Amino acid sequence: MNGRIVIVGGGIAGVQAASSLAGSWEVSLVLGEDFLPYYRMRIEEIIAGMAPESLYIHPAGWYEEKGIRLCHSKASSIDRDKHSVKLEDGSVLPYDKLILATGSNAFVFPLEGNRRTVFSLRSAADAIAIRKALDGAGSFTVIGGGLLGLELAHSIAEGFSIIVNVIESAEHILPRQLDKDSALLLQKKLEEDGVHIYAGAKAVSADDHTLRLSDGTDVPSDVLCFSAGVRAECSLASLAGLSTDKGIIVDAHLRTSDPDIFAIGDAAELDGRTFGLAMHAREMGSKAASIIGGDTSPYVPSEPSAMLKVAGIDVASFGRITDESDVIIDSDASRCTIFTENGIVRGAVLINSKALMMKVKNAIGKPFSESFPDYL
Ligand SMILES: Cc1cc2nc3c(=O)[nH]c(=O)nc-3n(C[C@H](O)[C@H](O)[C@H](O)COP(=O)(O)OP(=O)(O)OC[C@H]3O[C@@H](n4cnc5c(N)ncnc54)[C@H](O)[C@@H]3O)c2cc1C
Repeated sequence: MNGRIVIVGGGIAGVQAASSLAGSWEVSLVLGEDFLPYYRMRIEEIIAGMAPESLYIHPAGWYEEKGIRLCHSKASSIDRDKHSVKLEDGSVLPYDKLILATGSNAFVFPLEGNRRTVFSLRSAADAIAIRKALDGAGSFTVIGGGLLGLELAHSIAEGFSIIVNVIESAEHILPRQLDKDSALLLQKKLEEDGVHIYAGAKAVSADDHTLRLSDGTDVPSDVLCFSAGVRAECSLASLAGLSTDKGIIVDAHLRTSDPDIFAIGDAAELDGRTFGLAMHAREMGSKAASIIGGDTSPYVPSEPSAMLKVAGIDVASFGRITDESDVIIDSDASRCTIFTENGIVRGAVLINSKALMMKVKNAIGKPFSESFPDYL
C-alpha cells in the first residue's frame, strides 16, 4: 500500500475517488449522513415513496471487499501539522493525502413574514421531511425554475393531488440552460400537466400557507421549498485555513493551498468557477485519484451539458448560450437552437430533437457552416 488517504464526503466525487484509489492506498471514507452513499440525483424518488436504501450506489459489502473503511460521523476539524482529521465521534484519522469532497448546500434566502418552516432538497433526509410535510397539504411551491425545481414540481404534480407552483425570478424558466422560445415551449407542456409557473416575479414574504411575490400575487404554499441554487460547503476547509472563496480554491491539479489536501466535486473552485454537476464531480474524483497516483496532466473540465425529461419532453442543453443563434428545427413540439460566436458553435438547446444530439455535441468548437451546411 502507498499510504493513507482520507476522503471527507461520500457523494459522487468522494465515492469515485475512493473506488479509484482502493487497492493501492489505505482509504477511509468519512460519511456525514446517516445513509451509505446514494444517488443524490434520484432523491425525488424518496418523496414518491421509495426507501433511501434502494438508491444506494453500492451495498455495504462492496466497500468491505474493496478495503474501503467507512466512518459514519462528520469531520469536525483538520490538523494540517499533524496530518490528521478529527471526527465528531471523537475519532482521529491520520492521512498522507486528504481529499475534501464536501459537496454543496442549498441556498435559502430570507423571506419577510412569519413563516415557520421552509424546505430544500439536497439530501435523503430532506426528501423524507418533504414527503412527511406533503401529507395533508393542499399546495406545494418551489422557489426556483431551474432543472431541479422543475423536475421536483413536475414529479409532485404527477404523484400528489395538490396545487403545484414554480416561482422563477428571471423572465423565463431554465434561464441558464434555455433561450426564451425553448423555455416557453416547455412551460406550456408543464402547465398542461398541472404545474403553475410564475416567471418574472420574486418571492418576497410568506406566512405558513401563502407566498407573496414582488408583483403582489399571493401563491398558495402549504409546503414551500427552495431550489434557488447551491453554495459550496467550505466550512471545514476555511476552519483549517485553506484558501476559499465561492468554493475551496484548487489549482489545475485539484490541489488546495495545502499540497497534501485536494478538493473535488461541488465543493471545489477552479479558475473562479464552481461546478454543481454530477459529471464534473465524477470526473474530478477520478482525476484526483490519478494525480495522486502520479499523473501530471491538468484537470480540464468537460463542457457542461444538461439533459432532462420534463412532462415527457426531452430537453438537452450543451455548452454556452451566446447572443448569436440559428434555429435549425422549429415546429410545435420540437426545437433545436445552435448558439455561435463569430461563426463558431459554442452551445445548443434541443427540445424533442434527440436524433441530432451527437451531431450537435460534435459541432461544439467548430464552424457552424462546416457542421450544418444544409441550414445556411
Ligand atoms: C435532487 C437533485 C437532483 C440533481 N440532478 C442532477 C442532474 O440531473 N444532473 C447533474 O449533473 N447534477 C444533478 N444534481 C447535482 C449533483 O447531485 C451534484 O453535482 C453532485 O451530487 C455533487 O457531488 P459531490 O460528491 O461533489 O457532493 P455531494 O453529492 O453533495 O456529497 C457531499 C457529501 O459530503 C458530505 N459532507 C459535507 N461536509 C462533511 C463533513 N464535514 N464530514 C463528512 N461529510 C461531509 C455531505 O453530507 C454529502 O454527503 C442534482 C442534485 C440534487 C440534490
